[in-house]
Amino acid sequence: MRIDVVTIFPAFFDVLEVSLLGRARGAGLLDIRVHDLRDHTTDRHRTVDDTPYGGGAGMVMKPEPWAQSLDAIAAEQEGGEDAASGPLFVFPSPAGERFTQSVAREWSAEQHIVFGCGRYEGIDERVFAYASTIGRVRLVSLGDYVLNGGEVAAMAMIEAVGRLVPGVVGNPESLVEESHEDGLLEYPSYTKPASWRGYDVPDVLLSGHHGRVADWRRGQQVERTRLRRPDLLSE
Ligand code: SAM
Repeated sequence: MRIDVVTIFPAFFDVLEVSLLGRARGAGLLDIRVHDLRDHTTDRHRTVDDTPYGGGAGMVMKPEPWAQSLDAIAAEQEGGEDAASGPLFVFPSPAGERFTQSVAREWSAEQHIVFGCGRYEGIDERVFAYASTIGRVRLVSLGDYVLNGGEVAAMAMIEAVGRLVPGVVGNPESLVEESHEDGLLEYPSYTKPASWRGYDVPDVLLSGHHGRVADWRRGQQVERTRLRRPDLLSE
């Protein structure tokens, strides 16, 4: 999978060189390229923002550097002759649809995703219409709170999607039995020793009885979800 990121803070993405994603990049499973939006400015100050039409607080990201940057990335993609076969453009936004595990699963089958990281009050709205002429566009929120920029949100999405790309996580079984994969939170996990500082591992997990362990885990999943995330049970 190829992933491009457009940002005014490329250094945010240095962490993609470590851990599982760093290894996946080294193994050629993920081709991640980070681009500085300011490379597509023409003035001495490399300006990417301007005042909002209609007034109001803050600054808005100018459209032209975005169009040039997205054009340059889309032009590198082979076979993307129309918007439907172009890249998936993801713009992190608190005003977008919610990012979930099922969205991550869906995106893990994509060939090419481009993340456009907003700053200030966000990106000039016309950029999304323009991007939809060269690819598919999604505005996606990490959660119901406001971050300073799209970088942290893009990082979270890259990690959630990247680990679902075949080969990135060594044991694919571990991806199936996780929170949100079946609409429930994961069951509690324990490791050795069986007794630790006065806390004991539940007996059923020491029983060696697979059926009873599976039943207990399922019950824990439902109970935990009911207590911590009842909204998931009503969806
Ligand atoms: N004025 C915008 C609004 O109220 O919707 C918020 C702008 S925010 C300060 C700057 C940038 O941070 C956004 O363009 C977006 O890229 C990113 N951002 C902030 N919160 C986010 C969230 N919950 N999910 C995804 N991206 C977020």
